[in-house]
Amino acid sequence: MRPKILYPLFAPLTSLSGIGPRIAPLLARAAGGEAVVDLLWHLPVGCIDRSARVMVANALDGMIATLTLQVLRHEPAPSRGRAPYRVHCADDSGEITLVFFHAREDYLRAQLPEGSTRLVSGKIERFRDLPQISHPDYIAHLDKAGEIPAFEPVYGLTGGLTQKTIGKAVGKALDLLPELPEWNDPLLVKREGWPLWGDALRQLHQPSAANGADPKHPARRRIAFDELLAAQLALSVVRAKARARPGIALAGKDGDGAEARLRNTLPFALTGAQERAIAEIHADMAEPTRMLRLLQGDVGSGKTAVALLAMARAVDSGAQAAFMAPTDLLARQHFATIGPMAATAGLKAVLLTGRDKGAERAAAVAAIADGSADIAVGTHALFQEDVDFSRLGLAVIDEQHRFGVRQRLMLSDKGHQTDLLVMTATPIPRTLMLAAYGDMDVSKLDERPPGRQPIDTRLVALSRLPEVVEAVRRAVAAGRQAYWVCPLVEEAEEVPLTSVEERGLALASVLGTDAVGVIHGRMKGPERDAAMQDFLDRKTSVLVATTVIEVGVDVPNASIIIIEHAERFGLAQLHQLRGRVGRGSEASTCLLLYGTLGETAQARLTTLRDTDDGFAIAEADLRLRGAGELLGTRQSGMPEFRIADLAQHADLLEIARVDARRILDADPELNAPRGQALRTLLYLFARDAVVATLRSG
Ligand code: ADP
Ligand code: MG
Repeated sequence: MRPKILYPLFAPLTSLSGIGPRIAPLLARAAGGEAVVDLLWHLPVGCIDRSARVMVANALDGMIATLTLQVLRHEPAPSRGRAPYRVHCADDSGEITLVFFHAREDYLRAQLPEGSTRLVSGKIERFRDLPQISHPDYIAHLDKAGEIPAFEPVYGLTGGLTQKTIGKAVGKALDLLPELPEWNDPLLVKREGWPLWGDALRQLHQPSAANGADPKHPARRRIAFDELLAAQLALSVVRAKARARPGIALAGKDGDGAEARLRNTLPFALTGAQERAIAEIHADMAEPTRMLRLLQGDVGSGKTAVALLAMARAVDSGAQAAFMAPTDLLARQHFATIGPMAATAGLKAVLLTGRDKGAERAAAVAAIADGSADIAVGTHALFQEDVDFSRLGLAVIDEQHRFGVRQRLMLSDKGHQTDLLVMTATPIPRTLMLAAYGDMDVSKLDERPPGRQPIDTRLVALSRLPEVVEAVRRAVAAGRQAYWVCPLVEEAEEVPLTSVEERGLALASVLGTDAVGVIHGRMKGPERDAAMQDFLDRKTSVLVATTVIEVGVDVPNASIIIIEHAERFGLAQLHQLRGRVGRGSEASTCLLLYGTLGETAQARLTTLRDTDDGFAIAEADLRLRGAGELLGTRQSGMPEFRIADLAQHADLLEIARVDARRILDADPELNAPRGQALRTLLYLFARDAVVATLRSG
């Protein structure tokens, strides 16, 4: 239950006086939330400095200036035409005109009587070489200079909203700020020179200096830290809870178990990195506490084999294992590889996705429930309410970055003692790792299976498309297979980009209809599966696709990938896509077809051409795009921070991580006075679910 003291902050925006049902939705859209607190988190993006007094002669175009002007003469708008109402003014250095459209004369004459002196603040423009201000932001008597704020915050807006409206609403919200106890370490606050939480918000929304929107501003750093601490604390609580539940020791069997049989049937020797990861995972599994480990490995580094051996070990220990993929397509593909391998080791695997219905689904659910299924492969459908594992011991989550915290919590509800292995192919820079996972144990596959040929990556202008098509034709004639990736179908509506279907038709006219398959997100599941299967069976030679093939799809014979409008894709995404080839022993080629190249796009594409080290690429991506965008999509499951900027506040993230751990070591249920204050912090940042898992103090 949220503490009463926070109620006003979580009330709807309409609870602010002067904010009605018309404005509230606009504010909510701009602020990204419908509660008063959302508006408070909507910090200014800039700050207008009206503090300086400028002479007309020194007022530059485009600057916002406050001038002391003598009103010389009114020039009312002519009754016909569009000419505005003008008020001619001057100071000792020159003349300037104030311009008003649709003005009311009596009102302007009262505000700016001829012969008077007024403070006028607004944006300087130039019209026919003369300075002017149209619709000044402020006009004030000399003795009421205080009416003009020295520093005025600038907010991100949305259509229909003005700075004044949002500023007023924020003012009302600030009036509601409760006095909250300090939750931060007093030594840290002192060292950093941070204001109290409420004061920090007031300073940021009502700045008293021009640096109000600077990320280094102490008030902003404080709020950013609060946000990061709440996130790290939430992660640590979840983790501590998970750890505190006794796990099962999954020690495996020596010598003659399914794991040993699997090892013997693998068609390759494991790499050193795979062996190291397996040893780390096995050590965790053997402990009677829960495992929470991230297996990080670039595309093609062989994570599946590691997962499979871990699952076999779980089964050898008398437990079941689950393998969860982010999409139906991937679940099916994993089932197609894992199923037969498991079978040779004497293990029964079943498939369960959202698409499975009726008798088939019932059979899988029954096998999971009665324990006859050793391994269940599927999507999040595996963790629906009616699915009851008989003795789930290990859950593997593939391509973790597509799942959010919510799914992870759901999962820990399902198997109380389940060891958790999450795998990601996206090499996540350390900063983001911490933000997303907190202190998770990490195993890295930093070595590729032997015999892989580097992928020859080239940049090719789209104008050379005919040559590319011809090259594909020759390659196909020689028995090779190619992916041809187009930007999303959805995007084609805004921008005239080649859609998958059009490109498919064009290629079919050259290569023959039977040689070309098409696959995209709008196709129905079975249709997609069929297209994928045809490609895998070499019935088709070219698979024209959207980024649905981005993760995990594995067709070893495909050795060419063409990415059309490569400039439209993110770096990490391009790397993932490129990882679809180079999986067999044949030398592979990646052609990046580009339209017009901006500077960043060029930097992205050349980075990709010059390196295939996923970690280096991820770091470059962070530099080129900024943290928020790194994984590109909303589905990424990466935390999005409202205030903290990981590129700017990485040092704070590190402090928050250490702090969160120290806090929970000393006060695991957050019951001490500081713990109580931290509960308030968690509520403030909407971590209610986490607080609910704490014993009330
Ligand atoms: P990812 O880490 O991208 O999930 P996969 O597990 O799909 O990688 O493995 C990519 C390919 O490499 C698969 O075809 C797999 O059979 C093969 N592979 C995995 N480990 C090895 C190894 N040690 N030696 C040779 N090939 C391997
Ligand atoms: Mg994989």
